Amino acid sequence: MASRANHHVLLSCVLLCAAALLCSEFAMGGAVESQPSKPPAASNFPVASDVRLAGDSKQTRFILDLDQPITFRAFPLADPYRVIVDIPQVSFQLPAGVGTAGRGLIKAFRYGLVMPGGSRIVFDLTGPAKIANAQVLDAANGQPPRLVLELEEVDRATFHSRPELRPAIADATEAAVPVVAKPEVAPKPQVATATDLRPVVVIDPGHGGPDNGTQSGGESEKNLVLGFALALRDRIEKGGKYRVVMTRTDDTFIPLADRVRFARNQSAALFVSIHADALPRREGDAQGATIYTLSDRASDDEAERLAEAENKADAIGGVNLTEEPTEVADILIDLAQRETRAFSNRFARMLMGEMKTTTRMHKHPLKSAGFRVLKAPDVPSVLIELGYVSNKDDLEHLVSENWRSRTVGSVAHAIDAFFAKRLATAGPGN
Ligand code: ZN
Repeated sequence: MASRANHHVLLSCVLLCAAALLCSEFAMGGAVESQPSKPPAASNFPVASDVRLAGDSKQTRFILDLDQPITFRAFPLADPYRVIVDIPQVSFQLPAGVGTAGRGLIKAFRYGLVMPGGSRIVFDLTGPAKIANAQVLDAANGQPPRLVLELEEVDRATFHSRPELRPAIADATEAAVPVVAKPEVAPKPQVATATDLRPVVVIDPGHGGPDNGTQSGGESEKNLVLGFALALRDRIEKGGKYRVVMTRTDDTFIPLADRVRFARNQSAALFVSIHADALPRREGDAQGATIYTLSDRASDDEAERLAEAENKADAIGGVNLTEEPTEVADILIDLAQRETRAFSNRFARMLMGEMKTTTRMHKHPLKSAGFRVLKAPDVPSVLIELGYVSNKDDLEHLVSENWRSRTVGSVAHAIDAFFAKRLATAGPGN
C-alpha cells in the first residue's frame, strides 16, 4: 500500500483541485469580468442581503443587494443551460426559499460556498441565453451596492456556434485564477504523519454549497448529512483505530469526481458517503435507511432514480459535466474493481446487520446503482441514505440527537467489524 502523505499536503491538494476546477471554469469564453472598484474588507465577508428578478423570457435581470462592491466572473454553461457567477466568499443573508422560483429566462438559482474564499451563484436557465450585461454598481440614490446580471435569450444554434458563449476550458490560464482569500481550513483533530499506518476511513457528507440536496420542512439534506458525518467522525476517532478524513467539514460544494479522487489520494481503506433521500409526493411515501453499492445495472427503478438524482450534484453545483474527463478503463482497474466491489458488498451487509438493530431500515435495505461517487476502483465504497426527508417519521429521526447518536454508533460498529475481518485475513497495513 502506498505510504500516506502528510495530511496538510493532501488538504492543500484538495484545495488546489478546487482552485483548478474554478480556474478552468473561470476561463470560459464569454466570461464577463468585473473591475474591482474597492477591495473588500479583509476580516469580514461582504453581506448579500436581498435579491430581485425582473423581466421576461426574452430578457431577464438579476439584482443582488450587497453591503460593499465585490469582484465577480460570470459565464454560461450548456447541457443543461446555466449561468455561473463566481464571487469572493459572501455571507448570504437572503430570505429563506429564495431562488426556488424563477422568472423569465431564470428557472431557479442557488448559491453557496464552493471553496474557502469563494462563493458561487448558479442559475438554471429555461434555455440558451447570453450574458448581455453584468456589473457591480456602487451605492447610489439610496440603493446599496448591487451585482446586476442581464440575460438575453439566444437560440441554441447561436449559443453553440459562437465560441464566446461556449465554455473554453482549454484556454485556461494562470491569469484566470480568482483572487482567493487565504484558505481557512477547518481544523482536523487527527493529523497524519508518515508513521500513521492506521487504515484511513473517508466520510463523505453529500452535497454542500449551492447544492442543497433534497429539502423538506425547512431542512436541507446537505446540513443533515454534515451533522451526521461530523458525529460519525468524532465517534470513530474516539476509538483511535482509524484515521478519519472528511471530504468536507463545512457548507462547501465538492464535485463528485473530487470526492473520489480525494479518497484515492488518501489511500483510503473505506469510503462512506452519507445522504438522505426524498420521494416525490406523487410516488407515494417511503421510509427507512438504505445502503447502496456501485453497480452498472441498478437493482431496481428506485435505485436508478436515486443514482440519477445524486449524480446531478455536479450540474447543480455548476460543474460542466461535458468537460469531465472520460474514465480510464483497463484490465488492471477492472481486476481491482472486482475485488473492491466484493469488499464494498461485504461492508454493506455488515452495515445493514448493525444498522437494523438501531434504525428503521427501508423494506429493501440493500441496493445498487451507478453512483458516480462510489466509483473509486480501489476503495471499498458505500453510500448510506439515512432516511427520507419527505417522510414525517424519518425527518423526525434525522433531526433527533438521540437517533443520530444511536445510528452513528451502529455505523461505527460495522466499520469495526469490517476491519476486524479484513485485517485478520489480509494482515496489518492493508
Ligand atoms: Zn444526496
